[in-house]
Amino acid sequence: MPSRRQKLENHVARLRRCRRCPRVIPPPVSGGAIVSGVMVIGQAPGVREPTLKRPFAHTAGKTLFRWFEEFSVIRCFPGKAPSGSDRVPAPDEIRNCSAWMNAEFEILRPRLVIPVGRLAIMQFIDCKKLDTVIGRSFLVSRGEVSFDLIPLPHPSGVSPWHKISPGRELLVRAMKKIARHPAMRALSSRAPVACLAVALCEGGRDL
Ligand code: SF4
Repeated sequence: MPSRRQKLENHVARLRRCRRCPRVIPPPVSGGAIVSGVMVIGQAPGVREPTLKRPFAHTAGKTLFRWFEEFSVIRCFPGKAPSGSDRVPAPDEIRNCSAWMNAEFEILRPRLVIPVGRLAIMQFIDCKKLDTVIGRSFLVSRGEVSFDLIPLPHPSGVSPWHKISPGRELLVRAMKKIARHPAMRALSSRAPVACLAVALCEGGRDL
């Protein structure tokens, strides 16, 4: 019977070969097989992440690192929209990639999931406005796996939501909830947070 790490390593190897979506820019980005009870789920990698070979590696990641001091961030990215901004992943791409994410939920069975940005949050719960979900914790199930979900706004400079009241206060409340969560407390340098992007190849505007 393969260990959880072996399963995850096999999974990551298959993921890196994925070319299911014709409009995205491969390769899929993955920081490797990180077994953790906490998953951070971003929207999609930016233009530099495929080169740096881990998600959240550029500007947004630096801010994210400020929010979570010891962060081990992982994987992938989408392409430019005609406007010049990063393209938002299309529904079919999100659908394609959800198979990878579902497999990761099965393998990791996380206790805490932190979706970052509206697109990531909407994969789990309704999110018409960030004000209604940031600062709260939700019990969510994916397949047979149940976990606490604590959403965060995207840390990019595109949206000032998290810098202006009530976003600023709600972000502080969310961060406190995350810091107090037993899965977060259980993290050590040996079990860093697994960061998973919603769509696993290039393209995706920050929300
Ligand atoms: S976006 Fe996901 S499903 Fe599509 S090619 Fe990349 S890794 Fe595969």
